[in-house]
Parts: sequence; structure tokens; C-alpha cells
Amino acid sequence: MPLIDSHAHLDFADYGDDLPATLGRAREAGLVHVVVVGQWREPDGRRPGSRVGMDAARDAVELARSDRSFLSATAGMHPHDAARATGADLRELEAICREPECVAVGECGLDYHYDRSPREVQRELFAAQVRLAKALRKPLVVHTREADLDTASILERELGQDGGVIHCFTGDWAAAQRYLALGLHISLSGVLTFKAADALRDAAARIPLDRLLVETDCPYLAPVPHRGKRNEPAYVRLTAERLAEVRGLPLARVELATTENARRALRLPA
Ligand SMILES: [Zn+2]
Ligand SMILES: [Zn+2]
Repeated sequence: MPLIDSHAHLDFADYGDDLPATLGRAREAGLVHVVVVGQWREPDGRRPGSRVGMDAARDAVELARSDRSFLSATAGMHPHDAARATGADLRELEAICREPECVAVGECGLDYHYDRSPREVQRELFAAQVRLAKALRKPLVVHTREADLDTASILERELGQDGGVIHCFTGDWAAAQRYLALGLHISLSGVLTFKAADALRDAAARIPLDRLLVETDCPYLAPVPHRGKRNEPAYVRLTAERLAEVRGLPLARVELATTENARRALRLPA
């Protein structure tokens, strides 16, 4: 049965020379498509060989262009980097988001867990990217951590008609309902397999099946039993298996539904 990893940071140097083998393992695991999330990157030297600033988002788009039937890209500015964003970065982001291989604007949003940029600045940059998605008629990929109230109110004010995905959703059922009311899809990561994630599993059991996606957010958040190690798209199967268990459904049903949902929400090639 097919599967789609709706959120992967395959342009990170964590893969490097292992990228072709990583993509091979993804295909062997039954994946039919992977969405590569491009984002502005700080010049901190932690990832030798990868480009910085908005050029890092171009890397994701170029990677998608190298294998259009299997890969698509997104481009955005992460809330962690909000304080570094310049007007030139936003203009550059708009140009990248116009590329046909760039299916969505993001990830963008609010992160009040790490608070790496001031919250007011995060909110401004998020709203600007929601407006960009609306102007370009593309869906949005949203990152939100411990910020569901503000994330939902900005979306309620600014979201256009093209919908999008709450990626790596870790909220509860009340938060999920607000996003569902906006017509958004909800993507679950390996966090669903973590021992302490009972509130998330409760929400995952209640969200309508036709609104759910699965993702890895690799290289982060590897599902059990790989927790703490480098994650990769092939492991999205473990999250789909846990989702099937949580909902009491056959795995094949979850695989088909999440694949169809990802294609529809992010307008991926069939
Ligand atoms: Zn994220
Ligand atoms: Zn991410």
C-alpha cells in the first residue's frame, strides 16, 4: 500500500552522501512521494556543505526538481528565525514559492516552546506568510508548538481559500477542532508513537480520517523504536501503523486515506 511522507528535511546535511540510499529505502518501504520542506537557514556552520539564508530553500526546490514524480518542495521561514528575517528574504521567499515544484508556503508559524525569536516578531512573520500563501493561491504548512491559541487566531484572520496542513500536530482535541473548522488538514509525526503522547493519541482517534496526513519531520522525531536516532522517510510507516492501531482500522485503510489526503491538501502530482 502507498504512503506519503508529508514533511521531510531531506536537504539537511544529516543525509549528505546517504541521500540516494535514504530515498531508496523510502521507495522500498512503499512510499510514493516525499515533501521536502525548504527553509531559510542561519549561517551557523553546523551543516557543512548546505547553503544558507533563502538559498537553503532553493536547495529543497532543486532537489524536488531532480525527481518530480517522487519529490515536491515547500519554502518558508521558520518561527525560530523570525528575528533574522529581512524584507529581502521575504521577497526572495515569494520568488521561490512561485516555482512549480514548490507546492506550499511554509513551514511557518509560532514556537512558544523554544521562543528563539520574540513572540510579536513571530506573529508578524507568520501573518505575512499566511498572506503570501493567499496571494499565490497555494496551501500553507504550519508549525505550531505550545502556541495553538495564537496560531488559530492568526489563521482565522488571514487564511485564504487554499487550506493547508498543521504539521507535526501535538495539540489536544480542542486545538484540533479549531484547525478542522478552518478546513485545514492535520499531519501526525513519530510523536504519536511516544509513550507520553496519550492526549495526542486521543485527538488522533477523533480527527476525521479524511483530514489526516502522516509525516516524519526527519531528521528529527524518529518514531519508536528508533527514537533519538536520525529519522528518515521510510519510518513514516511506523507512525501510520500506530495511527491504524489507535483508530482500530486496517493499516491499508490508513495508508490509502493519508496518501489521498496528502495529494489533495498539498496538490501533489498523482
Ligand atoms: Zn516544524
Ligand atoms: Zn519541519
